[in-house]
Amino acid sequence: MENILEKAQKTHNLDKEEIIFLLISDGEKLFKLADKIREQYVGDGVHLRGLIEFSNICRCSCMYCGIRCANKEVSRYRISPDDIIKLAQKGVNSGFKTIVLQSGEDVYFTKDIMCEIIKSIKSLGVALTLSIGERSFEEYKAFKDAGADRYLLRIETTDKDLYTKLHPNMSFENRMRCLKDLKSLGYETGTGCLIGLPGQSVESLAGDILFFKELNADMIGVGPFLPHPQTPLKDCPCGSFDLALKVMAITRLLLPDINIPATTAMETISPNGRLIALKSGANVFMPNISGDDYTSKYEIYPHKSGINATKSGVILEIEEKLHSINRHIAKDKGFRKIK
Ligand code: SAM
Repeated sequence: MENILEKAQKTHNLDKEEIIFLLISDGEKLFKLADKIREQYVGDGVHLRGLIEFSNICRCSCMYCGIRCANKEVSRYRISPDDIIKLAQKGVNSGFKTIVLQSGEDVYFTKDIMCEIIKSIKSLGVALTLSIGERSFEEYKAFKDAGADRYLLRIETTDKDLYTKLHPNMSFENRMRCLKDLKSLGYETGTGCLIGLPGQSVESLAGDILFFKELNADMIGVGPFLPHPQTPLKDCPCGSFDLALKVMAITRLLLPDINIPATTAMETISPNGRLIALKSGANVFMPNISGDDYTSKYEIYPHKSGINATKSGVILEIEEKLHSINRHIAKDKGFRKIK
């Protein structure tokens, strides 16, 4: 264990066997080292990203996802472009330096509609992240030209057979193509995986981490799989918080200067999960700013923890929590600073 951690600290490289060893061993020393490397490379500031979940309409049917199109029990919504911009403005007024627009794969939001939204939000002087799924190179280019800075698209799993089973009518190759297009267009590119998918092995998680390194991802989001009762995976067990934390911490060792969120799924599965993640390698927090009506309907998994961060006092509460672990809200836009 000591030798592997020392190698990771010095070289930021590990092979598959070493990663597997860390994944199956006690995490205490790993979490401490990830925290130290986080401090050394990205400091004590925590970047807040204001998340707007603007549509839960989705053409995909990912087997684990509560808003999959095959789920007819979902109360569907789509926020209008004008209202999305108003929510972004509210976020900016509350002090957010980055707005994240996330949605299901909703075809209403064409290239032209998205570009108008992007231009309006960028005129507010913030960084903008998109997370709206798989699009063509041409669309990604148009969004970038309109001003989008970052894009999140999790690979979900690099195990191609598992990916194919879990994503009907989608292709692993196309997901990879999207990530490569995003990188080549100059987006800060975020990806990540789900932990504890049925049929997933530690070997495949080690493969996921090596893929993050190979892609040189700028952001990595990992979280436990949480079964939703209206999906085919409803009877499968939850992913493990501890394993998700380990994947996140090892990612910090291999990609020391990137942005890593303490994800909502971690908070949902474990009380104070986000604070624990922030002490184990994470440096980003993405509070919801969509408003309570929408947050409850964007139910990708049950009991999704979420507070409306534009309500008065919420940012102050977040700040107090961060101070309790000797951290603070970062003042800048939080782009990756390659050291
Ligand atoms: N449509 C966009 C995309 O495909 O990237 C963004 C929305 S999608 C709902 C956002 C993320 O939710 C997915 O990347 C997936 O990892 C996560 N997710 C969906 N269902 C989940 C579940 N049951 N448990 C944990 N995370 C889940």
